[in-house]
Amino acid sequence: MIYDLHSHSNASDGSLDPDDLLLHAAQSGVDTLAITDHDTLAAFDRIDTRVTRPRLVPGIELSTSWRTIGVHIVGLNIDPASATLRRGVRQQQRSRDERARIIARRLRSKGLPDMLEDVLRIADGEPVSRPHFARHMVSAGIARDTRAAFRKYLGAGKPGDVRHGWASLPEIVRWILEAGGTAVLAHPAKYRLTKTKLQSLATDFRHAGGTAIEVVCGRQSLNTTTHLAKLSRDLELAASCGSDFHSGDNRWSRPGGFPPLPDDVRPVWTTWQTYSK
Ligand code: AMP
Ligand code: MN
Ligand code: MN
Ligand code: MN
Repeated sequence: MIYDLHSHSNASDGSLDPDDLLLHAAQSGVDTLAITDHDTLAAFDRIDTRVTRPRLVPGIELSTSWRTIGVHIVGLNIDPASATLRRGVRQQQRSRDERARIIARRLRSKGLPDMLEDVLRIADGEPVSRPHFARHMVSAGIARDTRAAFRKYLGAGKPGDVRHGWASLPEIVRWILEAGGTAVLAHPAKYRLTKTKLQSLATDFRHAGGTAIEVVCGRQSLNTTTHLAKLSRDLELAASCGSDFHSGDNRWSRPGGFPPLPDDVRPVWTTWQTYSK
């Protein structure tokens, strides 16, 4: 059984419709797929519920911050109709709208043209994210490609890296738990923290009620997997895995495209009531 518990549709910054994402995952051999769009549940209002393979785990990826860094928490097996979660999502989306204005203003103060209107048009009613800025920068010739846009303007420590108004880590975990879901610390290796700091983050997350951690996210080294598996065992956090698939543009990235979970961790789906081996 292949479980891919982290993926994006075009309800956030992915490129495929939720139904096409499910189809693509099925064609890639995935048996169970979680759709985990950034700060939105819109995919679940659009999905064709007759699709039975892959099995769908409703999910979300919520943005928050810890100390001075941006952190993502994945909620798995949530009830997409949960009033608490829906209210939280509306709050996050208001923050995203305000943040888009701040990002545009900060880029303008660096001598770039005002891109707010173009970016809102690209986002087309979906919550605005930095990839929307990147897409505009590429089409307007401001950056050569998405990577360059992040490297120069949007990535960590750059003017577009604004962590404005996200709900706190404990609050986000509470929304997920109230929606009946499992809170998962997403892609821990991406924060580039020292081992000690990552352990503090994971400990704070656990105290807030988080119960799982992504031990495998996309292609990663055996070293990273071994380290995260140990963290998962030491802190008694269940282990999740996923591709963080966004689009087929990159031929290395596909649903299910990641190394298997090691044997010495407890897979998060075994903590759910209904699962098949
Ligand atoms: P936001 O949700 O607005 O903070 O944007 C974060 C999203 O930007 C992530 O989920 C990734 O999809 C994308 N992203 C982050 N860093 C990079 C990068 N260096 N190159 C391309 N995309 C990135
Ligand atoms: Mn993304
Ligand atoms: Mn993320
Ligand atoms: Mn993601």
